[in-house]
Amino acid sequence: MNYTCPYCGHHSTIVVSDMRDHWSHVYMNQTEKGEIGFGILTIRCVNKECNKLFLKVRLTKSLMRQGNHTEGYKIQEWQLLPESSAKVLPEYVPKVIQDDYYEACRIRDLSPKASATLARRCLQGMIRDFFGISKSKLKDEIDAIEEMVGPDTFAAIDAVRSVGNIGAHMEKDIDLIIDVEPGEAQLLIELIEQLIEDWYTTRKSKQDRLSKITELAKAKKEQKQEGKQE
Ligand SMILES: [Zn+2]
Repeated sequence: MNYTCPYCGHHSTIVVSDMRDHWSHVYMNQTEKGEIGFGILTIRCVNKECNKLFLKVRLTKSLMRQGNHTEGYKIQEWQLLPESSAKVLPEYVPKVIQDDYYEACRIRDLSPKASATLARRCLQGMIRDFFGISKSKLKDEIDAIEEMVGPDTFAAIDAVRSVGNIGAHMEKDIDLIIDVEPGEAQLLIELIEQLIEDWYTTRKSKQDRLSKITELAKAKKEQKQEGKQE
């Protein structure tokens, strides 16, 4: 199974000895959910420096098949480790932006309101940091970058802005706490992930490419000069 470690971002193919998926029937009187079972999925990151544990548990229906209790459909699932489904942000994203993003992910289900509030602040922080634009309202800042981000990115921002409560409050004070659903908070989180890729990651790989070219040209020039001296 292909696995990307949520702690360190390491991609690998996980073998059986580094992963366990254990399910068992729960022997007890029936609840309103009927016959139930529990599944536990654990994965170990094979990157030696990380070696961290991924842990997810699920509550499922338990079905009788050929005289055995077997796993039925999933009723609910909880990711216990790491605490949130946040992506690992690259180190060239400013720390304040990373902090807001991680916290928004961590509390998404527990408090979508607080999550969306943090995500909006994160979005504002990114616009200010990346484009050097600062206005009193987030809406004005978003409008100001329309020309610079290109139609696709702007359409994504605008789409999120048009969703229910997020849309109604994108324009208001960034510190205002708004009522949102977990799904809406997730949309904002995904927008931030997309923008980090479009802005920071694209800029970083461009910088890396250019400095490689510069170094290569410098090396060639030095070679040439050495050749002349001989
Ligand atoms: Zn790892």
